[in-house]
Amino acid sequence: MLCKFCKEKKPTVFLPGYRVSLCDECYVNFYQRKVERTIKKFKLANKEQDRILVAFSGQKDSLALAAALARTDWQIELLHINLKIVNYSDRLEDFVRKQVELLNLKLHIVDLKKEYGYSLTELKGSRPICSACGLIKRYIMNKFAREHNFTRIATGHHATDELITLLKNWIGGQTEYIIKQSPFLPSSHEKLVPKIKPLWNTTEEENRLYVQKLELPVFEEKCPNAKIVNYQRIIDTWKKLYPRLPIEQTLLNNFLKTKKSIIEKTEQHFPYNECIKCGEITSGTICTFCKLIDNARNKKQ
Ligand code: AMP
Ligand code: ZN
Repeated sequence: MLCKFCKEKKPTVFLPGYRVSLCDECYVNFYQRKVERTIKKFKLANKEQDRILVAFSGQKDSLALAAALARTDWQIELLHINLKIVNYSDRLEDFVRKQVELLNLKLHIVDLKKEYGYSLTELKGSRPICSACGLIKRYIMNKFAREHNFTRIATGHHATDELITLLKNWIGGQTEYIIKQSPFLPSSHEKLVPKIKPLWNTTEEENRLYVQKLELPVFEEKCPNAKIVNYQRIIDTWKKLYPRLPIEQTLLNNFLKTKKSIIEKTEQHFPYNECIKCGEITSGTICTFCKLIDNARNKKQ
């Protein structure tokens, strides 16, 4: 069997969601095209006009993002935030510096303690630590991007992350977050830099494979504060049930379609009329019930 795309080399990757087997080189191209298609589809950025600040954690996802954007000629620089988590953040920062040397990109580092005087633990107050961490990162990313004239902030949130967030918010009834969930977060104030998620359509596994194929080193250690996400198990079960369906992409894109249509429909005002046949309420001239009756009657004749 040969690679489905080039039909020359031996395949090394099988993508169950697409039912194709690809060689290393074709997989790398496939992944990069996928990221570019996502940027185009959701109008996330413009190659000539936008300077993108990639929020760079050192983990595989933002690494895949930075590599894919750099290899497809986007204007990017990276920002790593050192949160001063004991026995973790300083080692991560060292690793990030080495990683970025390999990528040959410009790296900025903001050290929370040096810049603002406190570590994450000292700042968190009564908040859950992950919530404080997210809040601090968003604050720093936005301030840094604005002060350095970046026009977009890109994060490595991927399809699997986004589906987990959607499930969490849906089950928890957090409708205000659901409304906001999208690959593009426009600026709602002049001080807010638009945020984009170019990996909205790629899964965690696809990101992992991509950095593997490029032989980029990944910081494998999990953040000591990270919790095991139970929602991941729901997704794994779905995948077992529907191995041939790209489940994350399908559900997320249907979610966006549904959201759009709900917003449009609730904004639309249907004129109500009275059916000319029976007098009940309808949006047209003859109500659907009367149409059913008419059809049945016609069939009988
Ligand atoms: P997480 O919330 O850890 O799943 O990370 C989501 C995204 O936030 C990553 O893909 C990065 O783009 C960004 N990010 C996370 N941690 C950092 C960090 N320490 N510095 C810069 N960006 C980060
Ligand atoms: Zn090939």
